Amino acid sequence: MLKFLFSLSLLTVLCQLANAQNTVLPEYPQNYFIRPLDLPPIIAGNFGEIRSNHFHSGLDLKTNQREGHPVYASADGNISRIRVQIGGGGNALYISHPNGYTTVYMHLRNFNDRISMTLKNYQYRMQKFDVDFPLLSVEIPVKKGEIIAWSGNTGSSSGPHLHFEIRDTKTEDPINPQLFGIRIPDQVKPVITGLYLYHLNGEPFSELTPKQAYPVSGVAGTYQLSPQTVVTIGGESGLGIACSDKNSASENSNGPYSIELRIDDQTIYSSVWERFSFENSRGINSHIDYPAMIATGRRIQKSFIEPGNSLKIYKNVINNGILNYTDQNIRNAQYIVKDIAGNQSVLNFKIRYNPASVKTSLIPEGKRFKFNQVNEFDSAGLKLNLPLNTLYDDLNFTYKNSPMPAGAYSLIHHVHNRLMPLNGALSLAIKADDSLPVELQSKALIVNRLKKSQGGTFVNGYVKTEIRNFDSFYIMTDTMAPRIVPVNISNGASMLNTSKILFRISDNLSGIKTFNAMINGKWVLMEYEPKTGTIWYTFDELTAKGKNDFELTVSDMKDNLTNYRAVFYR
Ligand SMILES: [Zn+2]
Repeated sequence: MLKFLFSLSLLTVLCQLANAQNTVLPEYPQNYFIRPLDLPPIIAGNFGEIRSNHFHSGLDLKTNQREGHPVYASADGNISRIRVQIGGGGNALYISHPNGYTTVYMHLRNFNDRISMTLKNYQYRMQKFDVDFPLLSVEIPVKKGEIIAWSGNTGSSSGPHLHFEIRDTKTEDPINPQLFGIRIPDQVKPVITGLYLYHLNGEPFSELTPKQAYPVSGVAGTYQLSPQTVVTIGGESGLGIACSDKNSASENSNGPYSIELRIDDQTIYSSVWERFSFENSRGINSHIDYPAMIATGRRIQKSFIEPGNSLKIYKNVINNGILNYTDQNIRNAQYIVKDIAGNQSVLNFKIRYNPASVKTSLIPEGKRFKFNQVNEFDSAGLKLNLPLNTLYDDLNFTYKNSPMPAGAYSLIHHVHNRLMPLNGALSLAIKADDSLPVELQSKALIVNRLKKSQGGTFVNGYVKTEIRNFDSFYIMTDTMAPRIVPVNISNGASMLNTSKILFRISDNLSGIKTFNAMINGKWVLMEYEPKTGTIWYTFDELTAKGKNDFELTVSDMKDNLTNYRAVFYR
């Protein structure tokens, strides 16, 4: 039998949350949604924790390092979307509920029979493995507690677990599932590991902003600077904090629920992970000290807000969180970090203004890009177009190039540097060298400094693509077709004692674009797991008794094709 425990009363939950946030919360329905696993509620990841280019949008529920745990519908509703994604959420299900929320289940191993059949019919109709299938509300109704799928490790998941989300159906904004009374036992206070001071002095934040790190020490949720010292600012400054949170049952470090900065008992900044929008989740690269994360992996959350940061997680912010004092009074500052269970940790320190401690950054000469306008750059065979909302703040853009490397068809263009984050994609065009033969123009693409393909199309002498990170770029060509390695099939083989035909596929540069298999001239579904590079067909009614003709074609992004044919017997 299923046992879903809800030991907190509605009142206690609301009190705790109001306390955790200091603001009146919308009333999310309590105890409407049940946990989707019949396992102890242990999480590897929580809502709002820092991931690469986004905030984590749900709970990662642990499944004992195993796949195949039944996944239950969290409440009555209708399957509204079935998605099979190469990477990302892998096999995913969406259930819309009559109360205006949608629950989402990702990285599933497989779906229940009814959902599987519906999906398979759709994949055959589309002749495609990775599909995003919206369903009408009448097609598959589900009941709370019904098995909808089995947990897995599909998509970009690095170990078996269930990713579970609750979204506002209308806006699709993910909301912290723990606000709905889904409780993860947690009596562990957040941990504060460092305080950082940024000397801004009216300049945009960058890797060149002078920065001071203050180690902290503390016990039982009370922290102070170690050694005890007064933080001295010499002009416009910002602060940042390194912190994390654990819960009672797991060793994983998660994100806090809220961070608040108070100076002389006045809140000047707070961030709360109640909900956010996928549209601006990439703003995380402005929220954190991005150069520190790229250079050292350190996750510092800044408490000053750049003008191009459109995240909606901030509350009670004064002067964008920027400190600017002109008297020399000593001020009491306090960071308060809370988790969603109401555990809190406090870092107390003192701040003083001293004009002698001013530190200014040496900003190199470059073309000034304004964050609130379209910016263009055209020089030495490189063209850039940065649409609105690409930058978080103004930027002195720097550019260099170096000679064409062996096997390449352009100079290497050093486009600013990797420590400066971008909020969105910009278009990049690189002029191809005259040595690029006409017949290879369609095979040309752009690679970064790690020789990783960034895609690209040849247009009027340039190869054009979109990039989301500054880096070094140049043109190469991909003329090599993908590799197909048969694992358990050969021409003339008997396939009577096996349930599937299995291959390994890979590509040298541009990446796999399509894979299509035919049995006796009819398209059959190949499933693909890029983490292991395997694709397989599971025998079904499309295979005849006796002799069958099999053909597999794999293409890469530059339309190089590899074909494999075999006759097999069943
Ligand atoms: Zn997740």
